[in-house]
Amino acid sequence: MFSSFAELERVALACTKCPLAETRTQVVFGAGDPDAELMFVGEGPGEQEDRDGIPFVGRAGRLLTSLIVGIGLDRDSVYIANVVKCRPPGNRDPLPDEIGSCRPYLEAQIGFIDPAVVVTLGNFATKLLLDTKEGITKLRGREFPFREHAVLMPTLHPAAVLRNGGAALAQARADFVRVKRVLARARSR
Ligand code: URA
Repeated sequence: MFSSFAELERVALACTKCPLAETRTQVVFGAGDPDAELMFVGEGPGEQEDRDGIPFVGRAGRLLTSLIVGIGLDRDSVYIANVVKCRPPGNRDPLPDEIGSCRPYLEAQIGFIDPAVVVTLGNFATKLLLDTKEGITKLRGREFPFREHAVLMPTLHPAAVLRNGGAALAQARADFVRVKRVLARARSR
């Protein structure tokens, strides 16, 4: 469908497939290393991401960055994307049609990047990529076989961690330690 990652990005940046195209400032395609072994998938851009064109740069983003740094990695060495690439007005939940319109971009990103580990942040990314109705509190911290040879690990959305405080932060940190372990295992193969 897309001949290269650059073409995928070019097409996505000009997308008008859903009504979010009318309210966004810009498309937030994704950021990081397109050859990353570790990929994060969030929900959708917020106000600051919509302004800057970069995913996870607001408060939740700063927490995500610190969790990444906490396992000895940096943001540039991973890839960060979202289920929807345009900000839903007022940060409302993305609608099923919007998720459906945007899905081919996420699928193509995953296809080109071909990460060993995909970490889904919160319910939207987890339910979409695992094709499940089960909630994040049941699924977080676990490993699921994903596509041909990858592992998917759901964790709490950093915005939920910020809302819920101490215990949620401890859970997120524990999930990231597991991610680090699974990544090391994938590298040793
Ligand atoms: N929340 C998300 O899910 N994605 C972002 O890019 C920022 C906040």
